[in-house]
Amino acid sequence: MIRIGVSGAAGRMGRTVIETAADREDVAVVVAIDDADAEMVAEKPVHDPADVPALLATHEPDAMVDFSVPAATASLADACGEAGVPLVTGTTGLTDDQRAALEAISEDVPVLKAANFARGIQALLETVRAAASALPGYDTELTETHHNGKQDAPSGTAETILDALAEERDFEETYGREGIQPREDGEVGVHVRRAGDVRGEHEIMFAGNDEVLTLTHRAEDRGVFAAGALDAAVWIDGRDQGFYTFGDVIEG
Ligand code: NAD
Repeated sequence: MIRIGVSGAAGRMGRTVIETAADREDVAVVVAIDDADAEMVAEKPVHDPADVPALLATHEPDAMVDFSVPAATASLADACGEAGVPLVTGTTGLTDDQRAALEAISEDVPVLKAANFARGIQALLETVRAAASALPGYDTELTETHHNGKQDAPSGTAETILDALAEERDFEETYGREGIQPREDGEVGVHVRRAGDVRGEHEIMFAGNDEVLTLTHRAEDRGVFAAGALDAAVWIDGRDQGFYTFGDVIEG
């Protein structure tokens, strides 16, 4: 059994990670951290992020699992680097500097960053590459939908899908359309919807003149992300320093 800390513990994902861990025998949550006023989450006391270095020293987690906000991820990364604690983060919307901070500490500790911990998304990425390669002239449009509390847009997963597409073709992204704005050759339209409590839906469409291929992934419960993040925490235990992805976990 590995001992993990959870940052962003009082949030939608942090709470789900703690609840999911409680049902598993390979992980135990030894420290929960959040900026919110919550005193307890899923029977775990919630600690102030101002105390992260001391909390890491006291509780000695084998890894930190982070679903918080970008600024918190960057300072947690610094603390993990100092304390020699591996970091698994699912937080999205990081600036280039915050991303660079994660890469910098990966010279000292293992760091795993994933915009999406659902295994189906890894299969979707492979399928997107295959479809883009097989259908080079087809118009391509990406639509993502998330709950109304999501901060960043488009989603980190949408950006990951665009990165996969960019491995197969050159394109310009167009974010939504308004007024007189016909489709241009070589553009990929990116469309963002925020509504209700949708866990996360990504659809990529390839359209030729007489046919349409649509690939859709829908997360139906946050537990799918939590399970993937916990699998990543188990996987990262004992790894060398370096920067890893969820694809590395799936490859084994
Ligand atoms: P949320 O707003 O419900 O939770 C974020 C939590 O972070 C809040 O409880 C907030 O109080 C806390 N926080 C703020 N400052 C903090 C600090 N300094 N230290 C610790 N905690 C702090 O958001 P959410 O829906 O749980 O999503 C969190 C992040 O995870 C977002 O970036 C989201 O896009 C991402 N996400 C990733 C995946 C994935 O599979 N990678 C899946 C779902 C969500």
